[in-house]
Amino acid sequence: MCDVVGQVQALAAGYSRPEARASRGAAAGGGERHRTRLVLLGTAGGPVWYGHREGIASAVVVDDDVYLVDCGEGVGQQYRRAGFAPFEGRQTLRGLRAIFLTHLHSDHCVDYFNLWLLGWFNGMAWNPHVVHAYGPGNRGSLPPLFGAGPAPPVENPDNPAPGTVEMTRFLLQAYAADINDRMRDDRRPALETRFEAHDIPLPPAIVAGANSDPAPDMDPIEVYEDENVEVRAILVPHPPTFPSFAYRFDSADGSIVFSGDTTVSPNLIKLARGAEVLVHEVIDAAWAESRFEPPLDPAQEAAVNHLLSSHTTIEQVGDVAERAGVETLVLNHLVPADNPRERWLEAQEGFSGRLVVGEDLMQIGLRQRRG
Ligand SMILES: [Zn+2]
Ligand SMILES: [Zn+2]
Repeated sequence: MCDVVGQVQALAAGYSRPEARASRGAAAGGGERHRTRLVLLGTAGGPVWYGHREGIASAVVVDDDVYLVDCGEGVGQQYRRAGFAPFEGRQTLRGLRAIFLTHLHSDHCVDYFNLWLLGWFNGMAWNPHVVHAYGPGNRGSLPPLFGAGPAPPVENPDNPAPGTVEMTRFLLQAYAADINDRMRDDRRPALETRFEAHDIPLPPAIVAGANSDPAPDMDPIEVYEDENVEVRAILVPHPPTFPSFAYRFDSADGSIVFSGDTTVSPNLIKLARGAEVLVHEVIDAAWAESRFEPPLDPAQEAAVNHLLSSHTTIEQVGDVAERAGVETLVLNHLVPADNPRERWLEAQEGFSGRLVVGEDLMQIGLRQRRG
């Protein structure tokens, strides 16, 4: 069993600004009663500039160790507001052990490198351990061109779809002026020795099929293991993005699964089977279809096509959770971020377990409480 702790407080806070929610969440402190817990840092899908939710990011916390899933806009500040840091002073990231990127859409990774650059000031420079980051490798090919008309120019044609390791290397180069300044002026430990980026390996045949079958039937991939958690990944269909991963965290207190961005996925259902908590993305199809007045131009058609062919709707997600046999379904990556809560509650249709509509800084504890 798992307890939703902080949910009442989060709901009572309604659509208040994150600062207000943060102070109430910290005051509630309920999640700290559990040794292992899920913390929703940001619950918005897509850009966050016009909503009340922060960018998509979540954490699995075991004692004082923190594992991040995605690094959407605001992840650093939400990390601090969640109150993970057990140390005094500017030591916010002392507990960070690893980061797992589901895919490289910017709403999921725009603040990934910010964590390194700014975390360098906030505990990471003197962490006793190296922080590991895992994510998709190189796509291997350009996505197909949707619709008619001439092809657009290709950005960085020598490597048009870099993976996590390459992206990290490019970002280190892009910030060389700042990084070299800090190391020479402050004698700060070299940034690139404080973390290590990894691409999750895939067989070449799967990479070659990126445009035809981005999530073939497969067994989960073992990604990471330490004394607290075992993490496995599986490909999910989020076309044309590839690779796109779901992650499963198994701990002594239970299992938490993150869907990442995906349409209905047999692989995800396989990965989530029997988990205590499934954190699943969701989109309101009625909202997507109402965004433009018909007739749609090619760009509008492409936008609607992307939303509905690569995400999971309110009407679909309950059935996904039911088929996976999970106890609790937590909706996150909510599109649109400002939908009324009543609309999200319609996801209960077809699901016999407990439905939770995610809110920023909500904490959900698993089983064992700390003594
Ligand atoms: Zn997304
Ligand atoms: Zn995406």
